[in-house]
Formats: sequence, C-alpha cells, structure tokens
Amino acid sequence: MSQINENFLNLQDSYLFSTIAKKVTKYTQENPDKQVIKLGIGDVTKPIVPAVLNAMHEAVNEMGTKEGFKGYGPEQGYPFLRQAIVENEYQKRGINIQEDEIFVSDGAKCDCGNIVDLFSENNKVAITDPVYPVYLDTNVMSGRSGDYNPKTDTYENIYYLPVTAENNFKPELPKEKVDLIYLCFPNNPTGTVLTKEELKKWVDYAKQNQSIIFYDSAYEAFIQEENIPHSIYEVEGAREVAIEFRSFSKTAGFTGLRCAYVVIPKEVKGYTKQGKEISLNKLWNRRTCTKFNGVSYITQKGAEAIYSEEGQKQVKENIQYYRENARIIKTGLEKAGFTVYGGTNSPYVWLKVPEGITSWEFFDKLLEKANVVGTPGSGFGPHGEGYFRLTAFGTRENTQEAINRICQSSQSSQSSQSGDGVKKGKITL
Ligand code: PLP
Repeated sequence: MSQINENFLNLQDSYLFSTIAKKVTKYTQENPDKQVIKLGIGDVTKPIVPAVLNAMHEAVNEMGTKEGFKGYGPEQGYPFLRQAIVENEYQKRGINIQEDEIFVSDGAKCDCGNIVDLFSENNKVAITDPVYPVYLDTNVMSGRSGDYNPKTDTYENIYYLPVTAENNFKPELPKEKVDLIYLCFPNNPTGTVLTKEELKKWVDYAKQNQSIIFYDSAYEAFIQEENIPHSIYEVEGAREVAIEFRSFSKTAGFTGLRCAYVVIPKEVKGYTKQGKEISLNKLWNRRTCTKFNGVSYITQKGAEAIYSEEGQKQVKENIQYYRENARIIKTGLEKAGFTVYGGTNSPYVWLKVPEGITSWEFFDKLLEKANVVGTPGSGFGPHGEGYFRLTAFGTRENTQEAINRICQSSQSSQSSQSGDGVKKGKITL
C-alpha cells in the first residue's frame, strides 16, 4: 500500500485567484457591455525585448548545426550565464559573489520551494504576514508546520512576522529563536522595502542565532531609491547567513520563458544534530545534480542577452514603463483620498481599504462600481486584511483608465456624502 505524505492534507486550498476569476466571470456574463480591467495578477504584459529574441533565434539555429548542437548542459547553468550574472548583478555593485555560488534554474518559485529539501523538519520557520504563499505552503508540505487554526488563519509552529502600516511594513525581529527566515524585498504583496540598516538587523540576528535568511529579491529591478539594497550581500556579514533568490521573470519579462537563479555563498553553513558545520552550497549542488537537468541552452542564451548594451537598454525601458504605471496608480489613488503604500520601488501598490469593509467587500465594490479587478489583501495572510493589491503590469491605457474610474466612483460617492472634497481614510466607493 502506498502511503502519502500526509503533510499535504494539512494544506489549505487557496481560493484566492480562482475566487477572483469566478467573480469576474459572473460579473462579465451578467454585464456583457462592461469593460473589466484586470490589475490583479502579478504577471508581466510587455513582450520579450528584441535583444533577447535575437539571441534566442541564434541559439535555435545553432542547435540545428552539427557543431552548435547542445545536449544536456551543466545542471548549475552554463558558465557564460553564471559569469554574466556575477559581473553584472554583483561585481558592478562591489559585491563578492563567485560563479560557483550561482545556480541557474527555471524559476524563483521552484527555488524558494525546493530549498527546504536541505533542512530538517525541526527548524522553526519565520515568514512575514502577508506573504508570497509559496514560502508557507512548501514548509507545510514538508512537515515544518503544526496544525492549521481556521479561527486565526495561521499554523502552529510557524512564526508570523506581521507587516502592516502599524510597524511601517518593517517586520520586527522575532522574540524567540527561529532558524529559517523568509524575507522578500521589494515585497510582494505590499510593495514596501527595507533600507540597508534595517536589513543589517536581520543579518545580525541570523548570525547570533545561527539562522539562515532566505532573501527573495525577485523585484530588485524596480528599486529606484538610494540606500535600498538590491542584494542582501550589500549588507556586511550576509555571505555567512543568507541565500538569495533572483529571477528574470519580472526583470526581463521571462514569466513564460522561465529562468532564475539562486545564490549560495560558500560561507553559508547548516548544522548536523551533533553541531557539525555543513556547506549549504555543496548540499544544493548535490541536490541540483540529482534532481535537475538544467535550463535550456536557448533560454540561457536569451537571459545572457539581457546584459548586452542593447539588452540592458530595452529591459530598462520596460521596467520604466511599469514604474510609470505604478506612479499613476499611486498618485491617482492618493489624489482620490486613499492611503497607499508601495509602488515606488515595486510594481505593487498596496492600499488601505476604506474603513468598515473587508478587503473582499472592497473587491466586490471595485468590480461593480469601477469595473476594476485587484487582489484582496486577506488572500496573502491574516494581516493582509484591510488592504488591497493593485499591480503595475497592465498596459498604460488600462492603468490610466482604471485609476480614472476608481477616482470617479470614489469622488462621486464622497461628494454625495459630505460634499466637502476628499478625506483620507474616510473614502467610500
Ligand atoms: N518570488 C516572488 C516574491 C514572486 O512574487 C514571484 C512571482 O510572482 C516569484 C518569486 C516567482 O518567480 P519565478 O517566475 O521566477 O518563478
């Protein structure tokens, strides 16, 4: 008799995006004349840039020649891409990362999920709340959580680090010892960031407690302000305690192509039960060689082309396009009286929903009154309740139109209620 991994039964079904899809379908069926604008899902919309396409076409042609054909490549990624990452992402910022500390993969989602393979069930895990759900669910699957409590929407044995307006979206250091800490900055879903000094506190905590930080910087390309670290290795001491996840998905529109990488410096160590130090770089290399056969040559050639002069120019233009969308969302909503977070160093705008309604009620109102779709904050964890996520990945026209509609519907209900302009936090739709 085959026995299943019963930890899977401890997972809660995620109804977030399926519920959104059902509600939108029902609304559009009942209102076929309405043009619904979707600013809910975190997927890019701009096509792959020409520099990447050209490199991929060349690689395809190479594959059809006797001399250029490639079979299995190195599991860790081709040296040309690993080296390009080292030079462009790290050496240019004065960060010491070596080629054999980079592992190219088919996505940061897989990397964030797979990394737990290296760690025993007994580790205490800390996640921010709200959170990118992969961190939590992969730990539930591998038995690192206790039972789920439906009343609080939390798991026993998981240490939740609230990130809300009350703490300015800066998670506080845990009051008890935790072993594995997930940090994602610029953050999904809140769009907020940590400064170098704020991140240093976490590195220091991890050093003191022999913990590991999993640092997800999938959105680092959106950072525009000084003193916001693009990599955790900008912080002194991080090479000893941090594993960094990076992705070409949002940086270069690779959500459909699939290419990412994880960085594991040789100094990062885990421990056996007897307290013996073990190199996590070595363990991950072993895991990678056993379970993965590498990203396709064609895709890696495309990723390398991002670092060419024209590649850089083209992907930066796209990022700038999304940044401008984020600015339009942020400033438009602020003008309409909403309290808004994120959106400056991130494609995500996190807004406070009007007082007295839940984030799902706000979703319904926004759909009905402005025909705009976003994501209710409670879908990302209990401390996401009271907030709502809009993304900058739509087209400019749709983004502008969505914000105009939200402003119009909120202002008209304002003036019909009070007639005296916009009041922060008191807004209604
Ligand atoms: N990490 C975060 C925080 C994300 O929001 C996402 C995707 O939305 C990912 C990782 C996944 O990246 P990839 O497309 O490389 O799997």
